[in-house]
Amino acid sequence: MSQQANTSVCPTCQGKKVIDGVCETSGEWQGNDTDDGQVCTPDQTCPTCNGSGVVED
Ligand SMILES: [Zn+2]
Repeated sequence: MSQQANTSVCPTCQGKKVIDGVCETSGEWQGNDTDDGQVCTPDQTCPTCNGSGVVED
């Protein structure tokens, strides 16, 4: 095994290791997350790099 680690910053999370939660308005959303129709997702570990912040080329 060589130590040629060809890695680059994860393009999905930009090296932050997590995906920021986002809020968006969905007119058809019937849930009750908020009372103004916004649907929010929580921060989550980046699925592309599995939380490492880098990906192998
Ligand atoms: Zn990532």
